[in-house]
Amino acid sequence: MKHPHNSLTVTILGSGTSTGVPVIGCRCAVCKSPDPKNNRTRAAVMITDAAQRHIIIDTGPEFRLQMLREDVSSLEAVLYTHLHADHCHGFDDLRAFYFQSGKPINCYLTQELIDEMKIRFAYAFEKTGYLGTRPQVDIHVVKDYQPFTIGDVEVESFGVEHGDVTTSVFRLNRFAYATDFKRFTERQIQAWRGKISVMVASGIHFGAHKTHSVIPETLELFKQLGVERGVITHLSHDVDYLRDAGRLPDNVVFAYDGMRIDVD
Ligand SMILES: [Zn+2]
Ligand SMILES: [Zn+2]
Ligand SMILES: [Zn+2]
Repeated sequence: MKHPHNSLTVTILGSGTSTGVPVIGCRCAVCKSPDPKNNRTRAAVMITDAAQRHIIIDTGPEFRLQMLREDVSSLEAVLYTHLHADHCHGFDDLRAFYFQSGKPINCYLTQELIDEMKIRFAYAFEKTGYLGTRPQVDIHVVKDYQPFTIGDVEVESFGVEHGDVTTSVFRLNRFAYATDFKRFTERQIQAWRGKISVMVASGIHFGAHKTHSVIPETLELFKQLGVERGVITHLSHDVDYLRDAGRLPDNVVFAYDGMRIDVD
Protein backbone atom coordinates (compact mmCIF):
# COMPACT_ATOMS: atom_id res chain seq x y z
CA MET A 1 0.00 0.00 0.00
CA LYS A 2 1.33 3.45 -0.92
CA HIS A 3 1.06 6.41 1.41
CA PRO A 4 2.13 9.42 -0.69
CA HIS A 5 2.04 11.86 2.24
CA ASN A 6 4.37 9.57 4.18
CA SER A 7 6.79 9.10 1.33
CA LEU A 8 10.39 10.18 1.83
CA THR A 9 13.43 10.72 -0.34
CA VAL A 10 16.72 9.58 1.10
CA THR A 11 20.01 11.03 -0.13
CA ILE A 12 23.28 9.31 0.69
CA LEU A 13 25.44 12.23 1.80
CA GLY A 14 28.45 10.02 2.48
CA SER A 15 29.03 6.28 2.03
CA GLY A 16 32.54 5.86 3.43
CA THR A 17 34.05 4.27 6.51
CA SER A 18 35.93 6.35 9.10
CA THR A 19 38.96 7.07 6.86
CA GLY A 20 36.91 8.00 3.82
CA VAL A 21 37.90 6.58 0.41
CA PRO A 22 40.45 7.24 -1.00
CA VAL A 23 42.46 6.71 2.18
CA ILE A 24 45.26 9.24 2.62
CA GLY A 25 48.48 7.83 1.15
CA CYS A 26 46.92 4.61 -0.16
CA ARG A 27 47.75 3.48 -3.70
CA CYS A 28 45.31 0.56 -3.96
CA ALA A 29 43.07 0.09 -7.01
CA VAL A 30 39.93 1.37 -5.25
CA CYS A 31 41.65 4.46 -3.82
CA LYS A 32 43.08 5.20 -7.29
CA SER A 33 39.83 4.29 -9.09
CA PRO A 34 38.40 6.80 -11.62
CA ASP A 35 34.86 5.56 -10.76
CA PRO A 36 33.19 8.33 -8.71
CA LYS A 37 31.20 5.62 -6.87
CA ASN A 38 34.49 4.55 -5.28
CA ASN A 39 34.97 8.06 -3.88
CA ARG A 40 33.35 8.01 -0.44
CA THR A 41 33.01 10.82 2.09
CA ARG A 42 32.21 9.94 5.69
CA ALA A 43 28.84 8.26 6.31
CA ALA A 44 25.69 10.38 6.63
CA VAL A 45 22.21 10.53 5.10
CA MET A 46 19.57 13.18 4.45
CA ILE A 47 15.86 12.39 4.61
CA THR A 48 13.55 14.77 2.74
CA ASP A 49 9.79 14.70 3.31
CA ALA A 50 6.98 15.57 0.89
CA ALA A 51 7.12 19.23 2.07
CA GLN A 52 10.86 19.37 1.18
CA ARG A 53 11.97 19.53 4.82
CA HIS A 54 15.39 18.00 5.43
CA ILE A 55 16.44 15.78 8.32
CA ILE A 56 20.14 14.91 8.53
CA ILE A 57 21.60 11.89 10.29
CA ASP A 58 25.18 12.69 11.45
CA THR A 59 27.50 15.56 10.59
CA GLY A 60 30.88 14.06 9.71
CA PRO A 61 34.09 15.86 8.68
CA GLU A 62 32.77 16.49 5.12
CA PHE A 63 29.36 17.78 6.29
CA ARG A 64 29.97 21.23 4.78
CA LEU A 65 30.98 19.74 1.41
CA GLN A 66 27.96 17.42 1.45
CA MET A 67 25.56 20.32 2.11
CA LEU A 68 27.11 22.36 -0.71
CA ARG A 69 27.03 19.39 -3.10
CA GLU A 70 23.31 18.77 -2.39
CA ASP A 71 22.51 22.51 -2.36
CA VAL A 72 20.81 22.39 1.06
CA SER A 73 19.93 25.77 2.59
CA SER A 74 17.79 24.82 5.58
CA LEU A 75 17.53 21.96 8.05
CA GLU A 76 14.56 20.72 10.03
CA ALA A 77 16.62 18.55 12.38
CA VAL A 78 19.85 16.66 12.91
CA LEU A 79 19.86 13.18 14.46
CA TYR A 80 23.07 11.73 15.88
CA THR A 81 23.92 8.01 15.86
CA HIS A 82 27.02 8.31 18.07
CA LEU A 83 29.96 10.66 18.47
CA HIS A 84 32.87 8.87 16.84
CA ALA A 85 34.82 11.52 14.92
CA ASP A 86 33.63 10.34 11.50
CA HIS A 87 30.00 11.01 12.53
CA CYS A 88 30.17 14.36 14.32
CA HIS A 89 33.25 16.41 13.47
CA GLY A 90 31.28 18.59 11.07
CA PHE A 91 29.10 19.80 13.99
CA ASP A 92 30.64 23.28 13.88
CA ASP A 93 29.32 23.82 10.34
CA LEU A 94 25.75 23.85 11.67
CA ARG A 95 26.61 27.52 12.32
CA ALA A 96 25.89 28.35 8.67
CA PHE A 97 22.27 27.18 8.98
CA TYR A 98 21.80 29.49 11.96
CA PHE A 99 23.23 32.38 9.96
CA GLN A 100 20.59 31.64 7.27
CA SER A 101 17.53 31.05 9.46
CA GLY A 102 18.30 32.86 12.72
CA LYS A 103 16.91 29.80 14.48
CA PRO A 104 18.80 27.23 16.54
CA ILE A 105 19.17 23.85 14.85
CA ASN A 106 17.14 21.02 16.43
CA CYS A 107 19.50 18.20 17.38
CA TYR A 108 18.21 14.83 18.58
CA LEU A 109 20.38 12.44 20.58
CA THR A 110 20.35 10.24 23.66
CA GLN A 111 21.19 11.64 27.11
CA GLU A 112 24.42 9.65 27.04
CA LEU A 113 25.42 11.34 23.78
CA ILE A 114 24.37 14.78 25.03
CA ASP A 115 26.74 14.39 27.99
CA GLU A 116 29.53 13.32 25.64
CA MET A 117 28.79 16.14 23.18
CA LYS A 118 29.14 18.74 25.96
CA ILE A 119 32.67 17.45 26.59
CA ARG A 120 33.68 17.00 22.96
CA PHE A 121 32.30 20.39 21.86
CA ALA A 122 32.46 22.24 25.18
CA TYR A 123 32.90 25.61 23.44
CA ALA A 124 29.46 25.28 21.84
CA PHE A 125 27.75 25.13 25.23
CA GLU A 126 29.55 28.04 26.91
CA LYS A 127 27.42 31.14 27.36
CA THR A 128 30.20 33.69 26.88
CA GLY A 129 31.72 35.14 23.73
CA TYR A 130 30.55 36.00 20.25
CA LEU A 131 27.54 33.95 19.03
CA GLY A 132 29.06 33.29 15.63
CA THR A 133 31.86 31.18 17.06
CA ARG A 134 29.64 28.30 18.12
CA PRO A 135 26.73 26.38 16.63
CA GLN A 136 23.34 27.43 18.01
CA VAL A 137 21.46 24.24 18.79
CA ASP A 138 18.29 23.13 20.57
CA ILE A 139 18.96 19.73 22.08
CA HIS A 140 16.18 17.10 22.24
CA VAL A 141 16.53 13.86 24.19
CA VAL A 142 15.96 10.61 22.32
CA LYS A 143 14.83 7.57 24.30
CA ASP A 144 14.77 3.93 23.22
CA TYR A 145 11.45 2.76 21.73
CA GLN A 146 9.78 6.14 22.36
CA PRO A 147 8.67 7.38 18.94
CA PHE A 148 8.50 11.14 18.31
CA THR A 149 7.64 13.24 15.27
CA ILE A 150 9.57 15.77 13.23
CA GLY A 151 7.02 17.52 11.02
CA ASP A 152 4.94 14.62 9.65
CA VAL A 153 7.74 12.08 9.99
CA GLU A 154 7.55 9.48 12.74
CA VAL A 155 10.96 8.68 14.22
CA GLU A 156 11.79 5.68 16.38
CA SER A 157 15.19 4.81 17.81
CA PHE A 158 17.00 2.33 20.00
CA GLY A 159 20.61 1.75 21.03
CA VAL A 160 22.69 -1.05 19.51
CA GLU A 161 26.09 -2.48 20.37
CA HIS A 162 29.15 -0.97 18.63
CA GLY A 163 32.24 -2.15 20.52
CA ASP A 164 32.60 -0.05 23.67
CA VAL A 165 29.91 2.45 22.68
CA THR A 166 26.19 2.37 21.98
CA THR A 167 24.93 3.63 18.62
CA SER A 168 21.40 4.91 18.00
CA VAL A 169 19.67 3.44 14.97
CA PHE A 170 16.68 5.27 13.50
CA ARG A 171 13.44 4.42 11.75
CA LEU A 172 11.72 7.31 9.94
CA ASN A 173 8.32 6.13 8.70
CA ARG A 174 9.23 3.03 6.64
CA PHE A 175 12.90 3.95 6.18
CA ALA A 176 15.62 2.74 8.56
CA TYR A 177 19.23 3.87 9.02
CA ALA A 178 21.64 1.80 11.05
CA THR A 179 25.33 2.53 10.96
CA ASP A 180 28.20 1.45 13.20
CA PHE A 181 26.67 -1.53 14.98
CA LYS A 182 27.85 -5.06 15.57
CA ARG A 183 24.46 -6.75 15.98
CA PHE A 184 20.78 -6.30 16.75
CA THR A 185 19.28 -8.23 19.66
CA GLU A 186 16.28 -10.49 19.12
CA ARG A 187 14.03 -7.83 20.72
CA GLN A 188 15.36 -5.20 18.33
CA ILE A 189 14.75 -7.43 15.33
CA GLN A 190 11.19 -8.05 16.54
CA ALA A 191 10.62 -4.30 16.98
CA TRP A 192 11.29 -3.54 13.31
CA ARG A 193 10.48 -6.81 11.53
CA GLY A 194 8.14 -6.21 8.59
CA LYS A 195 8.04 -2.43 9.17
CA ILE A 196 10.95 -1.44 6.92
CA SER A 197 10.65 -0.86 3.21
CA VAL A 198 14.16 0.55 2.64
CA MET A 199 17.09 0.17 5.02
CA VAL A 200 20.52 1.77 4.70
CA ALA A 201 22.96 -0.08 6.96
CA SER A 202 26.73 -0.19 7.42
CA GLY A 203 28.78 -3.11 6.11
CA ILE A 204 32.44 -1.95 5.87
CA HIS A 205 33.82 -4.92 3.84
CA PHE A 206 33.43 -8.68 3.30
CA GLY A 207 36.03 -9.77 5.89
CA ALA A 208 35.80 -9.88 9.69
CA HIS A 209 35.48 -6.86 12.03
CA LYS A 210 35.32 -6.75 15.81
CA THR A 211 33.04 -3.76 16.34
CA HIS A 212 31.16 -3.49 13.03
CA SER A 213 28.65 -5.65 11.20
CA VAL A 214 30.36 -6.69 7.94
CA ILE A 215 28.62 -7.19 4.60
CA PRO A 216 27.55 -10.86 5.08
CA GLU A 217 26.21 -10.03 8.57
CA THR A 218 24.35 -6.96 7.30
CA LEU A 219 22.76 -9.06 4.52
CA GLU A 220 21.58 -11.52 7.17
CA LEU A 221 20.10 -8.63 9.20
CA PHE A 222 18.18 -7.39 6.13
CA LYS A 223 16.69 -10.89 5.85
CA GLN A 224 15.80 -11.10 9.54
CA LEU A 225 14.08 -7.70 9.41
CA GLY A 226 12.33 -8.53 6.15
CA VAL A 227 13.44 -5.28 4.47
CA GLU A 228 12.23 -4.91 0.88
CA ARG A 229 15.35 -3.09 -0.35
CA GLY A 230 18.73 -2.90 1.38
CA VAL A 231 21.56 -0.42 0.82
CA ILE A 232 25.01 -1.08 2.31
CA THR A 233 27.04 1.94 3.40
CA HIS A 234 30.08 2.95 5.56
CA LEU A 235 32.27 1.14 3.00
CA SER A 236 36.04 0.76 3.11
CA HIS A 237 38.54 0.75 0.24
CA ASP A 238 38.25 -3.07 0.14
CA VAL A 239 34.96 -2.67 -1.74
CA ASP A 240 35.01 -1.79 -5.43
CA TYR A 241 31.55 -0.58 -6.42
CA LEU A 242 31.32 -2.35 -9.79
CA ARG A 243 33.58 -5.36 -9.17
CA ASP A 244 31.74 -6.36 -5.99
CA ALA A 245 28.15 -5.43 -6.91
CA GLY A 246 27.54 -8.99 -8.17
CA ARG A 247 28.22 -10.39 -4.70
CA LEU A 248 24.98 -8.85 -3.39
CA PRO A 249 21.46 -10.33 -3.67
CA ASP A 250 19.00 -8.74 -6.13
CA ASN A 251 17.29 -6.51 -3.55
CA VAL A 252 20.53 -5.05 -2.13
CA VAL A 253 22.95 -2.47 -3.55
CA PHE A 254 25.99 -0.56 -2.33
CA ALA A 255 25.51 3.09 -1.37
CA TYR A 256 27.42 5.82 -3.16
CA ASP A 257 27.73 9.53 -2.44
CA GLY A 258 24.82 11.46 -3.95
CA MET A 259 22.61 8.36 -4.38
CA ARG A 260 18.86 9.01 -4.01
CA ILE A 261 16.29 6.48 -2.89
CA ASP A 262 12.51 6.97 -2.83
CA VAL A 263 10.77 5.36 0.13
CA ASP A 264 7.01 4.77 -0.01
ZN1 LIG B 1 31.70 5.30 11.61
ZN1 LIG C 1 43.15 2.07 -0.66
ZN1 LIG D 1 31.65 4.37 15.13
